[in-house]
Amino acid sequence: MPKLTEGIYFIPGRDEMIPDAHTYIIGYPSSKDLSLIDPGLISRGRYKIDSIKEMGITFEDIKRVIMSHTHFDHLSGIFQIKEEIPWAELWVHEAEASPLEQGDERTVYGMEMFRKMCEIEYGIKYGAFRMKVHRKLKGGDVLKIGGMCWEVLHIPGHSLGSIGLHCPSEKVLIPGDVIYADYAIGRFDLFGADGAVLKESLKKLSELDVKILLPGHNRTVMNLPIGYIQKTLAQWEPYLV
Ligand SMILES: [Zn+2]
Ligand SMILES: [Zn+2]
Repeated sequence: MPKLTEGIYFIPGRDEMIPDAHTYIIGYPSSKDLSLIDPGLISRGRYKIDSIKEMGITFEDIKRVIMSHTHFDHLSGIFQIKEEIPWAELWVHEAEASPLEQGDERTVYGMEMFRKMCEIEYGIKYGAFRMKVHRKLKGGDVLKIGGMCWEVLHIPGHSLGSIGLHCPSEKVLIPGDVIYADYAIGRFDLFGADGAVLKESLKKLSELDVKILLPGHNRTVMNLPIGYIQKTLAQWEPYLV
């Protein structure tokens, strides 16, 4: 299973009818303070757990789950993860943390039609996504975890509480579903999404020095061309109103 760099492990999503978000594990193994980013899809939780085992990561070292955002394809795998790692804290941006604590599932499903589909497909009950959030993240937070330093960027537009995690020393960006490889960006038609807001978030990302782009879906990029985020923004700008 791929170790992308020292301190970043990658478990690729395995899409089915619904996409399965990629899972990343960040932190130097010697720190015994690892963070799991985005569990992914409910039916892929077992695969993610098995992959973590195969990588030789000790479950006890995983201290928390950090959400890039709380859409179903990123969050629903948490049920299986919590069975194996019940002590893991849940860290979510404050804009999506409070709804999650109150059982407001509009962000999780994005649209009512999708809720019905998931409830039927996976046997999920109404209100299953009410959960305690241990830390409510804010843009500007600096997370010193796993022997690394990650800046939290609040980048709404795809969802209200989307975050990017940026490690300046390694030039790594984990942007969730805000930007992907191949000049693609996240959709901006679901609950809480807003094209004009997404444009501002992409502008914010374009100011970062990024070499390694680790999105929530599709390809990862280990050697991002200079100006990639600016170019992506320029292509999409006419639609982001
Ligand atoms: Zn999403
Ligand atoms: Zn996604």
